[in-house]
Amino acid sequence: MTITASRLTKRFGDKAAVDGVDFEVGESEFFVLVGPSGCGKTTTLRMIAGLESIDDGELRMNSVVVNETRPRDRDIAMVFQDYAIFPHLSVHENIAYGLRSRRLASSVIRQRVPDAAATFRIEHLLRRKPRQLSGGERQRVALARALVRDAQAYLYDEPLSNLDAQLRHQAREDILALHQRQRKPTVYVTHDQSEAMSMADRMAVMRSGRIEQVGTPRELYENPVSTFVAYFIGTPSINLFQATLRAEVEDVWLEAPAFSLRLPPSRARALAGHVGGPITAGIRPEDLHPPRQAPFEVGEHNTMTARVDLVEPTTAGSTVYATMPGPAGDLDVAASFGARLPDRFVGQEVPLAVDLEKVHLFDAVTERSVL
Ligand code: ATP
Repeated sequence: MTITASRLTKRFGDKAAVDGVDFEVGESEFFVLVGPSGCGKTTTLRMIAGLESIDDGELRMNSVVVNETRPRDRDIAMVFQDYAIFPHLSVHENIAYGLRSRRLASSVIRQRVPDAAATFRIEHLLRRKPRQLSGGERQRVALARALVRDAQAYLYDEPLSNLDAQLRHQAREDILALHQRQRKPTVYVTHDQSEAMSMADRMAVMRSGRIEQVGTPRELYENPVSTFVAYFIGTPSINLFQATLRAEVEDVWLEAPAFSLRLPPSRARALAGHVGGPITAGIRPEDLHPPRQAPFEVGEHNTMTARVDLVEPTTAGSTVYATMPGPAGDLDVAASFGARLPDRFVGQEVPLAVDLEKVHLFDAVTERSVL
């Protein structure tokens, strides 16, 4: 099955919570809706489930319009943030609930419930009541209950947000493993970009009821269409600087009070129309290197200098937080180094080599990418 949303719209009063969104979820695709709180992710998901009426636009499953189809006739399984398991039923009864309400034979239920429980490693808890379970176990009951059914599509609304970091990691693996087996269209909502990046086949970044960009995690990371997407994707966040473009013979320079960088000729050509205009330059922390470790030739034209404020160890090396002088006070800059920067550099000025091929440039007024 495929799920297609065309100009999908939901209004609450005169405010559009979801404002004409378009996307398609392929046959066995794991599609993630991500964005800050209140951007319309849950409302979009609830329209797909049939829990929220659609005010405008079309929702299709395969090619059939399902705007008016009742939730239970859509044959979709959903996992909620607060788990929504029944406190008075045992784990076994909770998992069996969806199967019973669909009037499956008890022989089928007897076989499927332990199977689903085993998938989520809760087969030893089948007789317990939810209050006798930990948060992580309860969440696995909710997953087992939703996923025991052979539904046509699966929807998840922030299912991991009540779990601690370690359990969350395990649950991600469980959900993806299950998806690999079922190969059904899945829409997964989260506000956590790193969760989205690690799970999605493709993802849509939402902002104020609209989709800002759809693509694979890599596409969004490498080619964000706007400063919003650039800033939302990646940790630590991309460094954004106000700058201008200056043409000098064949070259185009990116100029800011704290640095002056010569853009590669391949990129300079595309920028001719933006020379002189205000630009927002985006440089990811991963694209700043200590000069000696840079995987490219380093010179004055591709180096900036910043004073180190803090060095944070990471698994790969260190994240360096530093400042550069700006027109209205210091500008913060973060750099992710592949090696550990010794603490003695704190308070010192260090050169940062910029991978110019990877600098992102946005129109400072429209906030849209200009490359
Ligand atoms: P979060 O990550 O915080 O859950 P979200 O991206 O899922 O946010 P939605 O829950 O879809 O966002 O809400 C989108 C907008 O619609 C918000 O401004 C919210 O206040 C509003 N909204 C959602 N449900 C209703 C409702 N039943 N009545 C009125 N306004 C609503």
